[in-house]
Amino acid sequence: AKKAGRGQHRFFDQSLNLKDVEEFHLEQSFAEALRNREFVLHYQPQVCLDSMKIIGYEALVRWQHQEFGLLYPDRFIPMAENSGFVIPLGLEVLRLACAQVTQWQVEDVPVRLVAVNVSPIQLAQPQFCRQVLEIISEHGLKTGQLELEITETAMLDARAVESLHCLKAAGVKLSLDDFGTGYSGFAHLEAVPVDKLKIDRSLIAKICNSHDDSPIVSSTIILAKRMHLKVVAEGVETREQLVHLKVAGCDIAQGYHLSRPIPPAEVPGFLRAFAGS
Ligand code: C2E
Ligand code: CA
Ligand code: CA
Ligand code: CA
Repeated sequence: AKKAGRGQHRFFDQSLNLKDVEEFHLEQSFAEALRNREFVLHYQPQVCLDSMKIIGYEALVRWQHQEFGLLYPDRFIPMAENSGFVIPLGLEVLRLACAQVTQWQVEDVPVRLVAVNVSPIQLAQPQFCRQVLEIISEHGLKTGQLELEITETAMLDARAVESLHCLKAAGVKLSLDDFGTGYSGFAHLEAVPVDKLKIDRSLIAKICNSHDDSPIVSSTIILAKRMHLKVVAEGVETREQLVHLKVAGCDIAQGYHLSRPIPPAEVPGFLRAFAGS
């Protein structure tokens, strides 16, 4: 409907601007890329700071483009959101992640939890909760093995909040991403039923030593605990940051210091090496 509207407008004002042409090509190539299965997921481990064991993986999408090579999400997710393509792409990502966990289970690779990023546009779809639960059951997973990372809670409409309550009631885990960046803060926390809070890496980057030189991070951890939420730190790049976070009571850490996101084929070897280290 949106497309027809835009086309009509274009017809009347006789202008065909470059941006529309580019968007059209991009939408075409998105659809083709989906058919060719060019979207792949890389996985980044999340480590429990008490046990130093891996508790799960975040799935991060990449586009294995025929001409341009491996494209990172910042290059195509914003456009996929504008064109609505993020809806079929998001379903593909969920299927890929669930299929991967199933395969790991068959191969005795101990991966119990996968976290998948979802766009607010996906959440606003009235069928979103039902589709997610269908994908989970088609792959024989338990709902508690899937976690959805959500952002921009300030912008979520009533339908999106309804999706979240539906998913939560079914046992799917919910995590609030990019916490502390302005889109996600304590003011929005009461409306959404999340289990975890992920402190944005821009805040973690401010931790330079193992003293409390980042009162925002330590206060966030204290407040989150009072709300019975687990706290995840993302973008942990140094040992000092890891030590600081552990002392401050953070539950889970993720970042280059532990591992970069890796292709699924490298996960079993990484797990063995990590357990042995
Ligand atoms: P995000 O959810 O905040 O994901 C964390 C990003 O930080 C990832 O970038 C990850 O590779 C990167 N990262 C992890 N550890 C470190 C570290 O120690 N230092 C630094 N500097 N960076 C680190 P990536 O994979 O390029 O993803 C960027 C964003 O794209 C994600 O941010 C997420 O918002 C979005 N995204 C990724 N996959 C999906 C998806 O399947 N669907 C949707 N809708 N969005 C996605
Ligand atoms: Ca995320
Ligand atoms: Ca982030
Ligand atoms: Ca983000």
